[in-house]
Amino acid sequence: MDTLQELFPTAKLDEPLRRYTAWKIGGPADALLEPRSADEVISAVKKASEHDIPITILGGGTNVLVRDGGVRGLTIRLAKALKDVAFDGECVIADAGVLYPVLANTTAARGLAGLEFATGIPGTVGGAVYMNAGAYGSETVEVLDWADVFRPDAGEVVRMTNGDLGLSYRHSVLHERQGWIVLRAGYTLGPGDPAELKARIREFRAQRMNGSPNRPSCGSTFKRPPGDFPGRVIEAAGLKGTRVGQLEVSPVHANYLVNLGGGTANDALALIELVRETVREKLGVELESEVRVIGEP
Ligand SMILES: Cc1cc2nc3c(=O)[nH]c(=O)nc-3n(C[C@H](O)[C@H](O)[C@H](O)COP(=O)(O)OP(=O)(O)OC[C@H]3O[C@@H](n4cnc5c(N)ncnc54)[C@H](O)[C@@H]3O)c2cc1C
Repeated sequence: MDTLQELFPTAKLDEPLRRYTAWKIGGPADALLEPRSADEVISAVKKASEHDIPITILGGGTNVLVRDGGVRGLTIRLAKALKDVAFDGECVIADAGVLYPVLANTTAARGLAGLEFATGIPGTVGGAVYMNAGAYGSETVEVLDWADVFRPDAGEVVRMTNGDLGLSYRHSVLHERQGWIVLRAGYTLGPGDPAELKARIREFRAQRMNGSPNRPSCGSTFKRPPGDFPGRVIEAAGLKGTRVGQLEVSPVHANYLVNLGGGTANDALALIELVRETVREKLGVELESEVRVIGEP
């Protein structure tokens, strides 16, 4: 049988994924591939499917918790590659690996309004479509037209419209479609004054600087419970500063669970569970994590 290295000569073997996640947590990928084009993504996925090798997709690694046992099979990371942005009037087409803050700046500089909110979201276009990422009262669903998605089951790229993607609060139908990969996305924006758009971006960034902990995390851990804010309820339950191992409920913002250094996925999962149970017992509020957990214990 062919080895992973023979099948994917440019992949890194046994590569620690903590190097690729915002939380700085995660065991090794059997093989980590950073393809340079959409065609390379597709041929790698086809080859993996032919050999029954499981596939995991990583964007910027800013909303995933990779478990300590790592990820079997082939992990494909898109953040470093697939970085083209093209314009056609008020339409923007961005490759899956483009970072959202970069897209915010690029579109603002062209006098295109609507993606300023993306400045606060450190992940990629692909991850933002998958998560329907949003900030400052706006969400991806409001500006996204379509996404080109490779479907390993059908062996082809399909253009899914905004409606097909079923985008809702931090959710898309892609959560239920194993292995479907966003390759690029099309957005329709409106006209705007570049100087004003850039000023808006600066304002958003300043807001973020003031209220965010300066430690590795995956940003907000829990989704908003109905009519409330997770940070408020976690703080009200007296959990700020609570630790499991090297993971801590940030004293700066209670919805951030920060890695104090050398934290494990086990610590993170245990702290997530502790927060959920405490908030449920003390306040009767059910919290749901927005973090995607991948890999083996
Ligand atoms: C400091 C900080 C602040 C944050 N603030 C916000 C915020 O304000 N609003 C917000 O919504 N989020 C926020 N996040 C979370 C995160 O940035 C978003 O969820 C982002 O959209 C994730 O993108 P990513 O590329 O990092 O995805 P990853 O974390 O790499 O992956 C997340 C999920 O998407 C899947 N995925 C990634 N790329 C693709 C692709 N091309 N095709 C198919 N599936 C894919 C992965 O398999 C995984 O299941 C924050 C995170 C951090 C660390």
